[in-house]
Amino acid sequence: MGKHVVIIGAGAGGASAAAEAKRTDPSLSIAMIEQRSEVSVAA
Ligand SMILES: Cc1cc2nc3c(=O)[nH]c(=O)nc-3n(C[C@H](O)[C@H](O)[C@H](O)COP(=O)(O)OP(=O)(O)OC[C@H]3O[C@@H](n4cnc5c(N)ncnc54)[C@H](O)[C@@H]3O)c2cc1C
Repeated sequence: MGKHVVIIGAGAGGASAAAEAKRTDPSLSIAMIEQRSEVSVAA
């Protein structure tokens, strides 16, 4: 069974964490949980 990562918050920090985790281990399954209806638009 593969590894799973759950990231709370889909802001810039959450997106950066997801990207870095995937770079480190492309086989990871990543879920991002966001309380709002839209994700961040921060550049
Ligand atoms: C008025 C304003 C204008 C800005 N303009 C720009 C701009 O033009 N360009 C730019 O690059 N940056 C801009 N910024 C800065 C940018 O918004 C922040 O630097 C960036 O959003 C920080 O990202 P973060 O992931 O650390 O936090 P956040 O963006 O705050 O992300 C955290 C996320 O976690 C979610 N969250 C929190 N608790 C929970 C929970 N318990 N369960 C689920 N989800 C949760 C929140 O809803 C949020 O979406 C601006 C900021 C402000 C206030």
